[in-house]
Amino acid sequence: MQPVTRRVAVLGATGSIGDSALDVIARHPDRFRATVLSANEKVDDLIELCRRFRPDAAVIADESKFATLRDGLRGAGLATHAHAGTQALSDLAGSDHCDTVIAAIVGAAGLNSTLAAARAGKRILLANKEAVVVAGALLMHEVAAHGAEIVPIDSEHNAIFQCLPHPALGAAARPGVRRLLLTASGGPFRGWDRARLAAVTPEQACAHPNWSMGRKISVDSATLMNKGLEVIEAHWLFAAAPERIEVVVHPQSIVHSLVEYTDGSVLAQLGNPDMRTALAHGLAWPERIEAGVAPLDLTALGRLDFQPPDLTAFPCLDLAFRALRAGPAASTVLNAANEIAVSAFLQRRAAFLAIPDLIAACLDALAAERAESLEELLALDARARQVAEARLAA
Ligand code: NDP
Repeated sequence: MQPVTRRVAVLGATGSIGDSALDVIARHPDRFRATVLSANEKVDDLIELCRRFRPDAAVIADESKFATLRDGLRGAGLATHAHAGTQALSDLAGSDHCDTVIAAIVGAAGLNSTLAAARAGKRILLANKEAVVVAGALLMHEVAAHGAEIVPIDSEHNAIFQCLPHPALGAAARPGVRRLLLTASGGPFRGWDRARLAAVTPEQACAHPNWSMGRKISVDSATLMNKGLEVIEAHWLFAAAPERIEVVVHPQSIVHSLVEYTDGSVLAQLGNPDMRTALAHGLAWPERIEAGVAPLDLTALGRLDFQPPDLTAFPCLDLAFRALRAGPAASTVLNAANEIAVSAFLQRRAAFLAIPDLIAACLDALAAERAESLEELLALDARARQVAEARLAA
């Protein structure tokens, strides 16, 4: 039987996940067509991708780059329509140009387009974990209400999705499932104490030992906030109570995560650390396709190690658990403060150890706020960013 051609919107096409997604799409021209591509400001890279993939539409979020995009596409003789701005991202994510949306924009900036895809009943390949952290309840509600599908792309959640009984979304609350075990590489500073962490640079923080990723998630991995965001993501995707989510440091990043059942069985998903596995899984699900990923050679690896996380040197993981227990608004505050803190660290305006301090201060100031609707959540996100910027400037 001829496979169905999926029309795929790759939001965040110029990023690390976008690159891996387009690699998988290019391997299967009979199955997938990239119909919408987007970037924030890398307009030349976006035009180059359009030359290669010939999408129906290209969106540049930074509206000041619209003319460059339009003229570049025309100059290349492409029929691709140029669009600009965040509203265009949401409009296209919910449009008939696509049936599948790869949500690979970094940060809360990806929330509106992810929600638009959910409201239009699309299959969402969800990499943009910040969208779930900011508005998990709302996103899961929209997915259920509009018959959308989520296949998680974060390797840990993709592993859990594969290890849970189907339908996997919400399945951790079912009888028989005891715990979700999220693995963490420990990042580039695993084993370091606070004294050593005081002077780390953005270059050191972005040099992840196992994964090649964008700068923001690389810093999140180095602080362990990435795992904290993933704990909150797992809570919403799989309906797992905080006390039933455990983080285990696994330096080799081969076991991507595990599900423990009440009979003592523990199911794990293993593979080389390459995001194309999760992307190929999400694109073809429930089928399996070639992803270009090297086969796993267990005897060459020899051993797999596991250890508890060091919460004294890396307090961000604890802060995320604190926010999750405090309620949805606190997670919104946590994410906003983290985005500001990481950006300041990357611009050398804040030290590495100032990241958890700033987040803790914002949680102290705003964790008791209430926010449920999208408008309330976005207003709280904006307030938390203001509080964080004010503290940085003080
Ligand atoms: P990158 O920084 O490599 O790419 C981010 C993409 O989003 C780029 O296309 C960028 O455009 C675009 N973008 C940035 N800001 C905006 C904005 N304000 N509006 C619209 N588009 C924007 O990030 P990654 O690919 O590493 O990560 C993307 C998401 O996937 C993150 O949420 C991350 O946590 C998650 N993720 C990533 C993994 C990885 O291996 N990289 C693994 C698991 C999850 P431009 O290039 O023009 O700046």
